[in-house]
Amino acid sequence: MKGELRIDELRGLIRYHDDKYYGNASPEISDYEYDQLMHELLHLEDEHPELIREDSPSRRVGGQPLKEFATIPHTIAMLSLDNTYSYDELRDFDIRVKKLLGREEIEYTVELKIDGVSASLIYHQGEFQQGVTRGNGMEGDDITWNLRTIRSIPLQLNESMDIEVRGEVYMPVKGFEAFNQTRDVPFANPRNAAAGSLHMLDPKQVAKRPLSIFIHSLGNVPNWTIPTQEQSLCKLQGLGLVVNPYHRLCQGIDEVITYCQECEKLRPDLGYEIDGTVVKVNSLEFQKRLGVTSRSPRWAVAYKFTAQQATTILKDIIIQVGRTGALTPVAILEPVELAGVKISRATLHNEDEIKRKDIRINDRVVIERSGDVIPKIVGVLPAAEGRNAPFIFPTTCPECGAMVIRLEGEARSFCSGVNCPAGRQRRIEYFASKGCMNIEGMGTSVVKQLLEEGIIEDIPSIYTLRKNGDSALFLEEKIGRCPHFSKRLCSLEGWGDKSVENLLASIEESTTRSLNRLINSLGIPQVGSKLSTVLAEHFGSMENVSCATQDELLNIPDIGPKTAANIVTFFSQEQTKSLLASLKSLGINGKGKEGAAVPRSRGDEAEFVLTGTLPNLSRAEATEIIQRLGGRTADNVSKKTSALIVGDKPGSKLKKAQQLGIRIILAEEFKEMAMVGIDKNGE
Ligand SMILES: [Zn+2]
Repeated sequence: MKGELRIDELRGLIRYHDDKYYGNASPEISDYEYDQLMHELLHLEDEHPELIREDSPSRRVGGQPLKEFATIPHTIAMLSLDNTYSYDELRDFDIRVKKLLGREEIEYTVELKIDGVSASLIYHQGEFQQGVTRGNGMEGDDITWNLRTIRSIPLQLNESMDIEVRGEVYMPVKGFEAFNQTRDVPFANPRNAAAGSLHMLDPKQVAKRPLSIFIHSLGNVPNWTIPTQEQSLCKLQGLGLVVNPYHRLCQGIDEVITYCQECEKLRPDLGYEIDGTVVKVNSLEFQKRLGVTSRSPRWAVAYKFTAQQATTILKDIIIQVGRTGALTPVAILEPVELAGVKISRATLHNEDEIKRKDIRINDRVVIERSGDVIPKIVGVLPAAEGRNAPFIFPTTCPECGAMVIRLEGEARSFCSGVNCPAGRQRRIEYFASKGCMNIEGMGTSVVKQLLEEGIIEDIPSIYTLRKNGDSALFLEEKIGRCPHFSKRLCSLEGWGDKSVENLLASIEESTTRSLNRLINSLGIPQVGSKLSTVLAEHFGSMENVSCATQDELLNIPDIGPKTAANIVTFFSQEQTKSLLASLKSLGINGKGKEGAAVPRSRGDEAEFVLTGTLPNLSRAEATEIIQRLGGRTADNVSKKTSALIVGDKPGSKLKKAQQLGIRIILAEEFKEMAMVGIDKNGE
């Protein structure tokens, strides 16, 4: 009985602090103290499983990983808003509304437009029941278990009622920056990070992402008696939902414009990204009378802030080599203040971007922050005097001196050095991964540990860890050389002497891998498992592959000229030659049979067809993403097609797909899928 009382008390306390944290943004206890409460609750619930209730705060993370999201139709369409970009356009909106309603003056509410991802939340008798993405507006994905992990979403309302509410899931800027630190492929902005997170299939992973939500409107609520938007927001807050504190009731469009100006000034200090305001007719009765068009409601409009720009001098262009070996040019700027933040660097994306905009050192440039946290260079101002020579993109890696490889059909460049310090850890991880040499137990954290302890320094040194005869002696030797090895490895979760020995055994076992796996494990740019198998079958030995000429490679149907040139460049690097020689001397020559590829039947793969232009994505990039997600592309829609990806100005394929009832994926959704794909690989 005592346990039961304490459980109730703990649940109450945790809800109270959730509310303080999110509702009022004024936490009263530290994160540590909060975790203590949660631990105690989990512990008591373990002891008293009969007292577990679905709305307990401990039940936020309970969902199992999904295979795919179920599709749920929206009872009322989730339309997007029309955008306006100037106060004149806002006045036009006001004139239209007045005319349609036949009134002189309209009362509006103005709210912040949170730069996040829309979601619909359904409560049944006060209990959170289902959460759905906007999707295509008519139907969305069931992301209930992902939303449950967000602490600012109450699992239980203060009133037992049936209600659908809508809101914007977002990632606060601080949380976003910390989270991006942990990623190999950082998200460009908090919005993308929120979208990618919500589309992950494993709620436990979502729970680690710093997501939050603001509720801003009603969905399907049959018996809502409250007459205005402003009062509805109050009511939603009273139910325990988190409503953004910045909203104002405005008499007429002039007051609306004044408040929009105030909101724009709030922007740098909010701690989350907004990209404008939302202006709504306050009376719900008037909203109903105004109705909707096929795309958007007539009673609301978004006012988008102009992008934040400044001019400064480009002092230098440096090249950063990322963990994936990608070379990214970065602009070093004369520091300048932009929307309250001091900016001294901007991204230049890639070589083509610099050429296209003809950006040169010492130019006067316009920089902009628009949603993205990292500013970019919009363009160059005309110069009064002579300019510097055009920037020459390096042909060798600034970190290791290996040749730079530009990918076929892509603007990105990569370092080809297999032992480049920038990409070393990632390359070793890749080498050991499942599809390559499959060294069980040698994941990210272990590789990192072994590198930090100096136990391995490159790929061949993995094989110097093999035990020779007496394993106890081996361990002793290793520990003798590096006293922290055993202790620190054992202190990692799930590690002990036994698992150290298991690791050594799987290293030993990996020496028998087949040639296609060995080729794949080298991480040759744009040579994945499929092409590795083709190369292995065609050339028969590592020696032959590494000596292949461009002409020989071009005889293989799957290989284009750029890829052929890249393969030749890759094998001509000193670092590659030395790696292959070391592996050979250690007996790793790809002569084993283990893991030889079984050709996969094409019927297993999902078939995608593209139509229209995908924003910010070339066909080649889209195709690569599809392949990475385990699918293939086809030119025409047929019954075999799994889904049609629709960009701007789609062609006749769209109609055909609709006739055949084939799944339609919008460009935006596809980008989110692509991000989730990266997540799966990256984590
Ligand atoms: Zn390098």
